[in-house]
Amino acid sequence: MSAFLSAFVIPQPPAASVPVAGGGAFPVRRIFCVGRNYAAHAREMGGDPDREPPFFFAKPADAVLTGGADMPYPPATNLLHHEMELVVALGLGGADIDAGDALRHVWGYAAGLDMTRRDLQNAAKKEGKPWDMGKGFDHSAPIGDLVPAARLPDPTRGRIALTVNGTLRQESDLSTLIWSVAETISFLSGLVRLAPGDLIFTGTPEGVAAVQRGDLLEGVVEGVGTVRTRIV
Ligand code: MN
Repeated sequence: MSAFLSAFVIPQPPAASVPVAGGGAFPVRRIFCVGRNYAAHAREMGGDPDREPPFFFAKPADAVLTGGADMPYPPATNLLHHEMELVVALGLGGADIDAGDALRHVWGYAAGLDMTRRDLQNAAKKEGKPWDMGKGFDHSAPIGDLVPAARLPDPTRGRIALTVNGTLRQESDLSTLIWSVAETISFLSGLVRLAPGDLIFTGTPEGVAAVQRGDLLEGVVEGVGTVRTRIV
């Protein structure tokens, strides 16, 4: 035991991680999320997709929910929404990353859900307050196994879809992202120095809606993988 480790005054918290398809685990440092990154979703949320630059919010690293585990219905809400998203996992960090160089920083991709307490988020928006409690609650980031980028083809196109109890709720294509993965990484790295272990939820297409206890959510990103959770 090193002197450094023995200096912690409470037990060190466990590191959050995401399983990697084929074995191993990816340690999660931070979770960043893009708001309104598909035009049709921006419109359904009352925004203007043509004029808004990308904006970001965050979830705690330990909000990840992995391995198809059940998601407990969170407290303090009556309007829990699903947002099906492509998730990017960074293996290299940096600041002011050029979009043309950005994909080199990607370690892998996964299918994920940006679960949202929409009633709390809507109230926060209305009052000009932070979104944190609408977005960054416990288990708010169900995520499938990560697939190494080296094993994937072009991440700029492919079907993204979500079913709830077998019924299609969200369906789009990654090619309709307003800000591409590379552009998103570039923008975000101008706001914070990105680091290995960071996850970026890249935004959801249209069709966000409420879920109830007992619902089974099954999402897919073509060529990347799946995410699955049951609300309990
Ligand atoms: Mn989202």
